[in-house]
Amino acid sequence: MLDHASGRIDIARLQDTLDGPWAEVRQAHRKHLDERFLPVYGETGDQARERITRLLGELPVELGIAAGFPAEYGGRSDVGASIVATEMLAQVDLSLMVKAGVQWGLFGGAVAALGTKRHHDAYLRDIVEGRIFGCFAMTETGHGSDVQQLRTTCEYDPQTQTFDLHTPHEAARKDYIGNAARDGRMAVVFAQLITGGRRHGVHAWLVPIRDEHGNPMP
Ligand SMILES: Cc1cc2nc3c(=O)[nH]c(=O)nc-3n(C[C@H](O)[C@H](O)[C@H](O)COP(=O)(O)OP(=O)(O)OC[C@H]3O[C@@H](n4cnc5c(N)ncnc54)[C@H](O)[C@@H]3O)c2cc1C
Repeated sequence: MLDHASGRIDIARLQDTLDGPWAEVRQAHRKHLDERFLPVYGETGDQARERITRLLGELPVELGIAAGFPAEYGGRSDVGASIVATEMLAQVDLSLMVKAGVQWGLFGGAVAALGTKRHHDAYLRDIVEGRIFGCFAMTETGHGSDVQQLRTTCEYDPQTQTFDLHTPHEAARKDYIGNAARDGRMAVVFAQLITGGRRHGVHAWLVPIRDEHGNPMP
């Protein structure tokens, strides 16, 4: 990096070394994240939501934020690249980073990791390409880190083969849920599975929360 004869430092090589693995992901973000992506101060909540949602659509899949998903659903099975992409978004605007993290990390990640092929085939490509926005609904007013103690219940009735997802009291209300206020169409909801009077621990359900026009589901 240091040319001893001239005493000059090769800046491009130095940057490449500091960028480490996934240097190309960092460079692609530096190029793409121009002044459109800089934080705007003094907006109303609605204006900020509207702008951040629009900017999310201006992050091409190739940039890397959804790179962790399997290639057959539009990712490239490269989790490291998606983490580096998240880090690059964080350097520009934390709101954008959190919204992207909810969509492709929490929500999409839960569908990928906890879902079966049926869920993957039905939803993953639309999630990766930003056509279905979703939520990761784990935290409750009374229960954050201690996930085993979540109080939301989901009771399976073998007669009708249906699940009844239920918030039994205030402390079980879902809280802090990114994408829930406006843009989410589905949510991965974490709850205690109960059937035949027995508790079977925490499981996840993929629940539609709004129709395609954004109206809340019943
Ligand atoms: C910006 C932001 C976005 C978020 N987005 C989402 C989201 O999209 N979906 C979602 O589900 N949640 C989301 N969360 C919630 C987040 O995951 C919770 O805040 C987190 O799980 C911690 O829960 P809590 O805030 O209730 O803290 P608590 O669980 O009350 O923890 C408070 C403190 O007590 C400690 N503690 C708690 N229980 C124990 C224990 N049993 N033993 C030892 N120490 C303990 C914790 O380490 C912590 O220091 C978000 C939070 C923030 C700040």
